[in-house]
Amino acid sequence: MDPFAPVSAAPQASASALTAKCGHCGTPVDPSRAAYGSGGKLVCPRCEAEDDVRESTARVATSLKGSAYACAGVGFVSLLCNPFLVASVLALMLGIGTLAVLVRQPEYRRAVGAHLVPMMIAAGLGTLCALVHPVILLLALVFSGAAAAVG
Ligand SMILES: [Zn+2]
Repeated sequence: MDPFAPVSAAPQASASALTAKCGHCGTPVDPSRAAYGSGGKLVCPRCEAEDDVRESTARVATSLKGSAYACAGVGFVSLLCNPFLVASVLALMLGIGTLAVLVRQPEYRRAVGAHLVPMMIAAGLGTLCALVHPVILLLALVFSGAAAAVG
């Protein structure tokens, strides 16, 4: 064989076509079209797409865990230090966003697994802590307005 010959596309691709099997489902696949899935196995396009969905769901679940626990932390900080209610607003956005996704989308509830209840508690507590200062300010405004109207 001439080592300087131009590289031609897929030599004997037709001979080896459909001889490989998908590493997940066992379907015969054309090796020239198959991809490598997680674990380095040759997988069919369908299993590759399922892998992609599983990976992106796991990534979203990880970031949801982060925002639920961050909500608890920022909510607690908002009780101690809350200039211009920045910490409250941040914790409310994290908490409400996390709770909304967990309530509305069952695939993410399944993906977080056993973390679901601690995450709901963390996001709920963070949201409640974040509401303390805004509610106090609102009540102060209402009562000072009422006092001004009376006196
Ligand atoms: Zn497959």
